[in-house]
Formats: sequence, C-alpha cells, structure tokens
Amino acid sequence: MFTSVLVGWIVLVVIGYDVHHHMFDLGKGVLMFAILLLVALAIGRFTVTLMAKPLENLAAGMKRVQNGRLEKINVSRTGDEIQFVGEVFNETIHALKERDRQIEDHREMLEARIQQRTDALREAMERAMAASQAKSEFLANMSHELRTPMNGILGMLDVVLESSLNGDQREELETAQRCAHSLLALLNDILDLSKIESGKMALERIPFQLKSVVNESIKTHQARARQKRIELTAEVSPEVAETVYGDPMRLRQVIGNLLSNAIKFTESGHVKVYLRTVGGTKDAKIEFDLSVEDTGVGIPPDKLEKIFDKFTQADGSITRRFGGTGLGLTITRRLVEMFGGRIWVESVEGKGSKFFVRLNLEVATKSKHVEADKKANGGERVSLDGRSPQILLVEDNAVNQKVVLAILSKRGFHVEVASNGLEALAAAQNAVFDLVLMDVQMPYMDGIEATRKIREELGLRKLPIIAMTAHAMTGDRERCIAAGMNDYVSKPVNPTTLVHTIMRYIDAALEPVAVSVPAAPTMVETPAIPEVAPLQAIDRGLAARLTDNDSSLFQGMLLLFLQMAPERIEKIQTAVSRDDRPAVEREIRKIRSAAERIAAVSVAESAVRLMDAVQAARQEDVQQSLLALEMQIQRLSRHAGENTDPSVSFELKAS
Ligand code: ADP
Repeated sequence: MFTSVLVGWIVLVVIGYDVHHHMFDLGKGVLMFAILLLVALAIGRFTVTLMAKPLENLAAGMKRVQNGRLEKINVSRTGDEIQFVGEVFNETIHALKERDRQIEDHREMLEARIQQRTDALREAMERAMAASQAKSEFLANMSHELRTPMNGILGMLDVVLESSLNGDQREELETAQRCAHSLLALLNDILDLSKIESGKMALERIPFQLKSVVNESIKTHQARARQKRIELTAEVSPEVAETVYGDPMRLRQVIGNLLSNAIKFTESGHVKVYLRTVGGTKDAKIEFDLSVEDTGVGIPPDKLEKIFDKFTQADGSITRRFGGTGLGLTITRRLVEMFGGRIWVESVEGKGSKFFVRLNLEVATKSKHVEADKKANGGERVSLDGRSPQILLVEDNAVNQKVVLAILSKRGFHVEVASNGLEALAAAQNAVFDLVLMDVQMPYMDGIEATRKIREELGLRKLPIIAMTAHAMTGDRERCIAAGMNDYVSKPVNPTTLVHTIMRYIDAALEPVAVSVPAAPTMVETPAIPEVAPLQAIDRGLAARLTDNDSSLFQGMLLLFLQMAPERIEKIQTAVSRDDRPAVEREIRKIRSAAERIAAVSVAESAVRLMDAVQAARQEDVQQSLLALEMQIQRLSRHAGENTDPSVSFELKAS
C-alpha cells in the first residue's frame, strides 16, 4: 500500500512538474509510471517475504501450540527481531517438548509404582484374608474344643465336690470351680468378640417374642439377685405383644450382660427391666426401648462413654472387688449395633445407673407367622404329591443325625442319612430326593466338595441343598453358596429355622394334608434347650446356662446320660443287693451329679431322695425310691425323644 501510494505520488509530482513547464509527454509519463510501478511491486514483494511471511509462520506455529501440537516453525534468516522471536519460539517449543517428555516419564514411573503398590496391597490383602479366614476357623473350632474340656473340668469338680471332703479341700476346690467358671465366661467373651470383630458373627432371623426373652432373662438372674437381696423385676408395657423377627439368643445375651452388671454393681435396692414401644409401626418395623435400671454404685460422668470400650472398667478398685474383664459391654454394644440399634447409659454416682437399648425390629405378621409355625411345630404333617418329602441328611455326627432325624420325622419327612460326602454322592445317584441337608465339615469328602460334585458330576442343578454348619459365620455361608448350595442353617440346629428353611424350598409343590397330629401350642420362640414346663424334667434355663446355649452339646450330653443311665441303675441295684453302702452312695452321687449337669432336676431330686432312704437305712424306701428314680429316667428319655421342640408358655411374673 505504502509503495503504491509512494509511486503514485512520485508519478503525480513528475507529471505535475511537466505540466507546469509545458513539457508533458504522454509516452514518457506512461513509461515512467510503468517503471515506477514495477519498482514498487518489487519493493512490496521484498517486504512481504522479509517481514510478513515470518510473522505468518509464527502465528501458525502459535495456533498449532494452541491446538496441542508442539511443532517448530521455519525461521527465515532475516537477522532482525523477527528471526529472534522465531528462534525464541522454537526454543520454547523445544523446552515444552522436553517438559512433556519428563512428565510422561514421570507418569509412567508413577503408574509402575502404583501397579507395584496395588500388587503388594492385593497380596497383603489376600494374605490378611487368608489369615483372617484361618483365624475365624481356628476360633470357631476353638469355641467347641475349649468348651468341651472346660465342661469336663466343671463336671469333674462337681463330682469331687459331691464326695466327702474336709473343710480346706472343699474350700480349695470351690475356688478352683469359681476360677473355671470365670475362665469359661472369659473364653466365651473373647470368642464372641473375635467373631464380631472379624465380621463373622451372623445374626439369626427367626420369629420370637421380646417379652419372653425379657422374662427368661429375669428368671435366669433371679437366683443371683435373691442371693444379694436385690429386688429384680420387669415392667413390660401392655402394647408390647408383637412377635418380631431377630436373633433371640443374642438378644438374651444383651439383656443378660446388662442384668448381670446391674446385679453385680448393686449392693441393695432394686434392678428393673423396662420394655416399651416407641412410636407406631413404620415399614413393618417397630422401635422398642429396653432399659435396665439399678440402684447400684453408678458410673462417674467421664467414664460413661469409655465403659463401652474393650477392657475398660469405670473403677479398677471397685471392679477388682466385683470381678469382670471389661468385655461385656463391648460385646453388648456390638451386638446391639448388629441389630441396627443403639445403646447408651445414664448414671448418677452412688445412686445407680440406667442402660437404654433402642431396637428397630421387624414385626412378624400374624398370618405368615402362624402358618409357618404350624408347620414348624409339628401341628401339621407335610406331604408332597401325597407322599412324604424325601430328604437326604448328610451329617457325620451321630448325635446331630439323631436330632435332625427326630425333628424331621415328626413332621412327616422321610429322611435318609449319609455320613459323609462320598456316601451322599452315592445316595444322590441311587435315589431321588426333594432336598439335601448338608453338613460342611465331614471326613473323606466335605459338604462343599460333595455339593460341587452333585451339581457338576451328577448334573442335579435344581436339587435344593441346604448347608448346616457348626459356626454361625458369614464367610461359611458365602463359601456354601459359592459351592452351589441354596441356603444355610447354622448349628446347633434350631427346629423352627430348619423346618422353615426346608419349607421355603419345597413349598411350591406342597399340599398340606389333614391335620393328623393335635396342633402343638403356637411356638413363639425357639430356645435351643427342650423344656418340659409342667413336669420340670429339665430346667431349661439352667440347661441353657450350663451348656452356654449350645443345643447340640446339650443333646449330646442328654443322650450320653440316657445311654449311661441303665448301667448306673444296674450298679446301684447290685450294690443295694450286696448291701454295700459306700458303693450305693458313690453310684447315687454319680447319677445325681450327672443329672445336675444336664439340669435334669426331677432325676436329681429322685437321686437325693434315694440317698436319704439309703442313709436312713429304710429298705422299703430304698426300693421305692430306686423305682421312682428309674421312672424319672424313663420319662426323661421319652421327653428327649418327643421334645426336640420346646414350647414356651410365657407368663411375666413381676416378683
Ligand atoms: P466387666 O463388668 O466385665 O468389668 P463390662 O464391659 O460389662 O465389663 O463393664 C465395664 C465397666 O462398666 C465395669 O467394669 C463397670 O465399671 C462399669 N459398669 C457396667 N455396668 C455397670 C452398672 N450397672 N453399674 C455401675 N457400673 C457399671
């Protein structure tokens, strides 16, 4: 533009000069104009090449950088600022590229490191999971392994304490007995806590009445309260009539822990349990408030939260006096949390404490509940297309076989027994079953492998298989389900849960036949230990405490007692006929303490009466008492056969 204007101006000046001096020559003017135009074009072109092009390159280069492409530009060697700017630009591009490369290297290094760490973490996690699994299995086995010898120790101490001892010996043995009881309690606490902490404790979900659980707990602690002359009562609001779903055994443990603390830390006054509902039903759930109030030593304000921590006690000196480990409330809180509830405490030092438990429990609707219970209770016999449903029971333990057999036969199931996985495979191959109950731990072939083989090798993919495992552990459930089992019941087998679970799987094809057995009273709760309410053949509460609610242990002990009883009676008879009084007394003591160990109170009472008769040397009474003892044992035996289901008649007595 500038050049053109300049050329135009020069031409105009020259032409203007010529015109002014009257020398204007058109030819000369045109030539001059053409020459000057050519010169201007040359200058223009030179300028563009020298300046505009490098700037254009620079702009394009910047645009590329903007678009993420780091490319150098061509720099013309003009030797001026433009060349300088171009070179700086190229250096910047180089630096950026270098930075990018470094970032890329760094990223790769980080990725490698993350991968390394992830691998290490995965490995550590796998190792931890394996260790935790091993720990859980160890604990589950230990709970049984430790309790059995402890029961032996306690039993033997009972026997020795029954014999004639001098004062010192008795005192020493009683100390040993107290220590053994504390050790058993501590073992149970540690095992429970470990199970909860490793997430391996599973809560059952069965229908039960809250009132019954409260009443039971009161009964269990009444003797201890009476000993300390403390009034122990319960106040249940009338609206708390519902049957709820949950784990009654664990709830009993919660209330039991609170009650035993309340009694332990109270010297005089009362301990009172309150149970009431809060608000109405919401989503088939009701909130319950359960509180345990005492007039004991109380808890300092700064300890109110801490007492729920592991191994924490409010006052070392007081607790040393009362004993304890500081685990009870930790377990209690964890259990309440597993129920989806919460626990807190209010207390005034020197006046007393009140522990509150808020639970949100699902209410069992009547129709569902009664129908299920009728079946579970043996009020109805089940039939499948007019025949007994065929159940294959795979279980290696003879006592457990008998228990499950008794529960199922009574309801009209036909049960075939296999003692391990191999036998189960053979049985499943040779006969058609409607359902399989599969123990998990068995010799030769365990339940997991047997299930896999039934599914894969025999192709029985639809056959319902229900696992029965000794540990109420969630990991086990997953292992069973992963192996292809449909469901899971935990041992000791609870009759109601077992039958409910079985019914779920064969209910579709189920036709109830006419009720041929008189309906048993509606069962609202399923304690593990048989109760014979009017006859008191067995004190169920005591039995539960003696065996720590382990019904399979109890069944085993009961069966063992019944197996040994005829031999013991015979020994008494022989000794009586030989008039060997020391031998008679020894044998009576044995049978009495054996009966006491299984809470067979009527048998124990008969043994005491027999002992009285023997010591009074009343021959006729001895014969009669011996007969009475035999009859009590027979009755116990009948109950063992009939009463795998306890029925609880609930009556709340405020004492
Ligand atoms: P333990 O009773 O075995 O020591 P817990 O966890 O059951 O363990 O209780 C922890 C502590 O809480 C007790 O040692 C005691 O100091 C305090 N505590 C619990 N319940 C009561 C209560 N009802 N009255 C006073 N103190 C209590």
